[in-house]
Amino acid sequence: MENIHAVYNGRFDNLNNIKISPLSRAYTFSDSVYEVIPFFNSLPIAFDKHILRLIRSCDALSFRVDIEAISKEISELIVKSELKNGYVYYQISRGVDPIRSHMFNHDITEETFGYVVSHTFSSQILKVMFCEDLRWERCDIKSTSLLGNIMSMNNAKNKGCDEVIMHKNNIITEGGASNVFFANDECVFTPKLSKNILPGITRELLIKKIKEAGIKVEEGEYTIDNLINAKSVWLTSSTKGLAQISEVIDQKTNIQRDHPLFKECEKLFIDSYLT
Ligand code: PLP
Repeated sequence: MENIHAVYNGRFDNLNNIKISPLSRAYTFSDSVYEVIPFFNSLPIAFDKHILRLIRSCDALSFRVDIEAISKEISELIVKSELKNGYVYYQISRGVDPIRSHMFNHDITEETFGYVVSHTFSSQILKVMFCEDLRWERCDIKSTSLLGNIMSMNNAKNKGCDEVIMHKNNIITEGGASNVFFANDECVFTPKLSKNILPGITRELLIKKIKEAGIKVEEGEYTIDNLINAKSVWLTSSTKGLAQISEVIDQKTNIQRDHPLFKECEKLFIDSYLT
């Protein structure tokens, strides 16, 4: 196995040397949160924002963590990897419990794990499918409990799609692993933050850049019809950047490839973070 840099409970090692207990609550209950921190030209993108979101996820589950030590480990993983472009996956679980019990033992210590992945931030064009959002009501926590996303995304994969766009009672929430944006000729729209969506860092960075450039951007509640009638639809995430939607299967849409407003937003993002 190739030499993949990883860290487990503060100890750096190759990924294939790391062994975890089956009684880790990450394993038995998905009692864990995570972050994906991208880096480009060996420098993390929006590092502080990722750390802040990790703190919020930990606080939501009452995990006690040494965030300074974790931040250092993430930076060190990037340096040790000697990779130019990639991301760090970092996960924190409540810890290893002596028995599998829903009610956790307060004496256990949080368990941390991170590793580095090489990644090219090349632009992608995606085919997607709409689906009902099956998930729980705290999707604002970046938890590893992702069964709703996994079921929907693999259902979409079996139909030849790359991603899903989820909706709750016809109101668009987000992608399976991304936030949703769409545009007409004058304005960019994106679902407003709520407990039903993850506050994406790419979403936040892009909205700021769009506003600074004097382009109109609106955050609100949008329906499937709003999306179908849009001129351009794209998804955002730390690993995808901005990814245009070419087709929504089983739907007739007004989507145009390379719409000028999309190209302008894409350029704003690439010029700021991926150059
Ligand atoms: N929404 C979900 C469900 C995600 O899994 C992700 C990223 O993986 C995002 C949104 C985008 O978040 P970010 O831009 O911070 O990567």
